[in-house]
Amino acid sequence: MEFTAFADRATAIESTPADLETVGLVGDLLEDANDDLKTVVRFLLGRVFPAHDTRTLDVGPSLCREAIAKAAGPNVDPADVEDRLADIGEIGAVAASYEFGGQRGLTAFMASSPGSVDSPGSTNSAAAKSLTVAEVDRRLRSIAATEGEGSERTKLDELFGLFNRCDSAEARVLARLVLGEMRLGVGEGAIRDAITEAFLPSGSEDADAHDDPETRLDDPEHDSGETNGNQGRLTGTEGDLDPVATVTRALQVTNDYGRVAALARDRGREGLLEEGLEIGRPVQAMLAQAGTAADAIDAWGRAAVETKFDGARIQIHYAPADGIGPELYSRNMDDVTDALPEIAERVESAVDVPVILDGEVVAVDADGDPLPFQEVLRRFRRKHDVGRMREEVKLRLHAFDCLHADGEDLLDTQFLRRHDRLRSILPERSAAVSIVEDADAIAAIEAQALSAGHEGVMLKDPDAAYTPGDRGQRWLKRKPDVETLDLVVTGAEWGEGRRASTLGTFEVSVRASDQSGDTNFEPIGKVATGLTDAELESLTDRLEPYVRAEDGTDVDVRPAIVLEVGYEEIQQSPTYGSGYALRFPRFLGVREDKDVADADTLTRVERLADEE
Ligand code: AMP
Repeated sequence: MEFTAFADRATAIESTPADLETVGLVGDLLEDANDDLKTVVRFLLGRVFPAHDTRTLDVGPSLCREAIAKAAGPNVDPADVEDRLADIGEIGAVAASYEFGGQRGLTAFMASSPGSVDSPGSTNSAAAKSLTVAEVDRRLRSIAATEGEGSERTKLDELFGLFNRCDSAEARVLARLVLGEMRLGVGEGAIRDAITEAFLPSGSEDADAHDDPETRLDDPEHDSGETNGNQGRLTGTEGDLDPVATVTRALQVTNDYGRVAALARDRGREGLLEEGLEIGRPVQAMLAQAGTAADAIDAWGRAAVETKFDGARIQIHYAPADGIGPELYSRNMDDVTDALPEIAERVESAVDVPVILDGEVVAVDADGDPLPFQEVLRRFRRKHDVGRMREEVKLRLHAFDCLHADGEDLLDTQFLRRHDRLRSILPERSAAVSIVEDADAIAAIEAQALSAGHEGVMLKDPDAAYTPGDRGQRWLKRKPDVETLDLVVTGAEWGEGRRASTLGTFEVSVRASDQSGDTNFEPIGKVATGLTDAELESLTDRLEPYVRAEDGTDVDVRPAIVLEVGYEEIQQSPTYGSGYALRFPRFLGVREDKDVADADTLTRVERLADEE
């Protein structure tokens, strides 16, 4: 496809406001793209390489402006381009505002370096030849591969050569592509829909697809992966997927819109479903939404609870027998292997089957206690002095998921089974998981995690599949209590079993006033979680002087001590005298500084309940 045709169609897509029409126009473009389909899809998303590919052009805005200035002629310097950018605000429009092509012939020839792919504009005929999508792709890839001394100069010459052959629409698209800011109003969702619409029209079971994989799937990026024997296969429920879900699934496992478009066109649904994970090709991480313990238990009946580690996400790819890895990828799929040698070494020494693992790397102090998240970042981005930093900031891996093990893709496998697999592969570095059926147990685990210096807890649906890139409702990061209440202890119950010698449950009350205006205290809940044994003992001692009466295990306590109490929700309730009940109240501490006259009032509780 001619680059000018691509640029014109991109411009038409950009000027179409309606989403549906955009999908239609993109679909038409994909159908017309022929051999350039993969590149066209990537270009539409402002990419030269697929998302999983760690290569970059490494061309900054100033180099781009310099190339534009050079192609715009001797009277234009980078400062002019910068001024226009300040006026217009967008590099594509700036590039489109110049007239290029005047620099053909000798000037261009002189400018091009011997190192370039073939000297742009080195003859009049080459300069006159119009650009194709394939050539732009090839030249941009060569820019990405340029490194070492003089590479800036080579990149500048290459880019200049490209701009010099652009008309205005082409220049607009090229400048944006180079800086990764395509901004056509075509998001990943629109591309997914366009691929589906163009190549998997509903009702046709792959009517147009043929299954000769040789035809158009020869993509250099994937050659090694397809022959290394590490490619997994999807198992499970894929037979039920509708066309959009089929495309989505393939996008999740490949992380490559270009490849999926070509697969959909050339091999249809069957080809898409055959696509599996590949060791060495990172996928997007599954993400979490904020939620409460009650949300988790209500939705799933039980929850898998793990520590939420305050570190940086890491995806581990390792195929020992094939000499791949360990490779470590950040949440943005940057290759961070060189910055974290001890993690790679750990994986190498412990794992002996091909795997893709997901986890968190945390910085720890000399005792192994977690340090703030900023510390781990000092390691992640490091290119130099890795050896010294390795001594300074110690790291610990907490693996919490297993996406692939020993030839089998596990995305569709239930979380608990994936976790079992993980434990069998990397027992010493796997996060502990507890299955619980009530929110109190979640609060207890959270209290432990917090007191060990972690961030909180993650709640996971024990049956959930792993959905890359998805911020769904199957993983919840427990939302911290928004507000806390300072409540007066008005009663207690002795504990049971091991805790029989201390009070174990505390009735807490809000401050209210009766009809004559006198202060009284109305119960709002019972706190039994969030206390350590030592805290229970100390609270028992503190309350003893205020005990008014005992009846079996029930103790009546004179209002004297104020507790800070966390909760997830305030509900209206006939159970307690206040007319309200706290959902999942937890002990956060004794308010030593507060007298009962400073405790929270019923009026505040009413207001908080109204706000919920
Ligand atoms: P947030 O970054 O606040 O959206 O929280 C989600 C992040 O928590 C994930 O992307 C992980 O990097 C991190 N995380 C820490 N511990 C876990 C865990 N046990 N399971 C999943 N994610 C975790």
